[in-house]
Amino acid sequence: MSEKVILVTGGTGLVGKAIEKIVESEKRPDEKWIFVGSKDANLCDKESTIALFNEHKPTHVIHLAAMVGGLFHNMSHNLDFLRNNIMINDNVLQTAHQTNVVKVVSCLSTCIFPDKIEYPIYENQMHQGPPHPSNYGYSYAKRLIDIANHGYHDQYGRMYTSVIPCNVFGPHDNFNMESGHVIPGLIHRLYDVVKDGSTEDQVFTVLGTGQPLRQFIYSPDLAKLIIWVLRNYNSVEPITLSVDETQEVTIGHVAETIAKAFNFRGKIVFDTSAADGQYKKTATNKKLRSHLPDFEFTPFEDAIKETVTWYQENYHHARN
Ligand code: NDP
Repeated sequence: MSEKVILVTGGTGLVGKAIEKIVESEKRPDEKWIFVGSKDANLCDKESTIALFNEHKPTHVIHLAAMVGGLFHNMSHNLDFLRNNIMINDNVLQTAHQTNVVKVVSCLSTCIFPDKIEYPIYENQMHQGPPHPSNYGYSYAKRLIDIANHGYHDQYGRMYTSVIPCNVFGPHDNFNMESGHVIPGLIHRLYDVVKDGSTEDQVFTVLGTGQPLRQFIYSPDLAKLIIWVLRNYNSVEPITLSVDETQEVTIGHVAETIAKAFNFRGKIVFDTSAADGQYKKTATNKKLRSHLPDFEFTPFEDAIKETVTWYQENYHHARN
């Protein structure tokens, strides 16, 4: 039996750690998995990328490595997000091609979709208009992965494809309140408020109006779907990996669910002077559902509870 050697870039991050855990629980004899982070290779650097591929000789790559951040970090660092992600993606895809990697699954995001568009958004609408101005650097760098995948397919017949997850959360997330996403940021903020116990006079401040709508996927659910894509999805066209449209929630609901998970007894206050970002960006998962109609997503409340518990137990070595 020929062995698949699967290299996971970004293997030390939120999504990478979740894939590692799933793979450990259902080992297959014909698959060897290798998880790498920035300490193993700086993927902004071509030589370092080539050395990594020469060391592990992957036949398949799940490419997760990226400069990733929440709304406020993106808004202030658009150029860094653009340049670093363009470099990482070009180095990984070109080195994969040069070393004969048969399949690459790269990670895009629903937040790179056009800003002004009818909802729900389908995969084939990705290039039909500019992204939201808050994260144009990250978005254009990610969109170029799809262009490159088509190029590698058209010119060389490569099966280099991409997945489009909605917002992800779970254990091992970046809980830094400046650079992280909304859920880990709120969890960290409330952790600080209640660390000596919760009382009725405490205040949990949420930036923005609480009204924007988002789809959130729990990292173990996304991990299972990415592994399925690697093994079974054979099209260059991207596939959205998101919860159903009916599972979209407001940021206000997110805050309430986190408060419940912490048994918070105080008051939630919305700081309406802060930016909201895009009001909504509902993506359809019809394509995914056409392949996996029965896939069950973890209920949001359970997933938040598990993430909060993980954070409480791992606070001292979490990314804060
Ligand atoms: P994390 O920030 O948790 O992890 C990022 C990973 O990329 C880490 O393993 C990090 O390594 C690695 N990395 C960053 N820069 C470099 C570099 N220069 N060289 C090598 N490795 C590098 O990200 P997520 O797990 O959240 O995201 C994974 C993928 O999913 C990304 O492509 C992201 O764009 C996409 N995505 C994420 C969403 C989310 O809500 N989080 C939503 C939709 C898509 P180290 O930790 O060792 O520094």
